[in-house]
Amino acid sequence: MTFIDSEFGEVVIRKNAWCTRPKFSVATSGKLTISAPPHTSVFLAKRWLNSARDQIREQLPIKDPATQRARDAQKRILMKKARDYLPYRLEFWATKYGYSYSGIRLSHANTRWGSRSSSGTISLNIGLMKVPEPLRDYVILHELAHINHMDHSEAFWAEVASHDPNYRRHRKLLKQYSPGV
Ligand SMILES: [Zn+2]
Repeated sequence: MTFIDSEFGEVVIRKNAWCTRPKFSVATSGKLTISAPPHTSVFLAKRWLNSARDQIREQLPIKDPATQRARDAQKRILMKKARDYLPYRLEFWATKYGYSYSGIRLSHANTRWGSRSSSGTISLNIGLMKVPEPLRDYVILHELAHINHMDHSEAFWAEVASHDPNYRRHRKLLKQYSPGV
């Protein structure tokens, strides 16, 4: 039994009488395979896949070309959304709080949501388009606050807090997401 997932491509469900819980692996073909108990439906397999999606993305080397294509497509969509949104949002907050920066760069690094270079360019990860707006704004305000404070000192956090009073909560919630596409 197989089904098509928009991110991982063709997914194979391999039923196994001894299997009691779903197990994800990569077949030699490079396709994502779910070992599952007999009587597993495609509907159920899709649900398992969705709840394990982040983990699969991080841990399994899926080499199916369709997967790569799906990932590239997702990256293009995020890039387009990011281009239409992040420069304006950055400008909005910068104007509101009187910050000046020299430019914006859209990145797709796997580990950072944003950064500020010594030349004053602010980098924002296109993966921000996947997270709720308050968390996105927190990242932007965090990078803007670095214009006045290069470090993560108390003064830096006080400045972030003055623009985003819920920054602690936003920072914590952000850890549930991964910047990688
Ligand atoms: Zn920082």
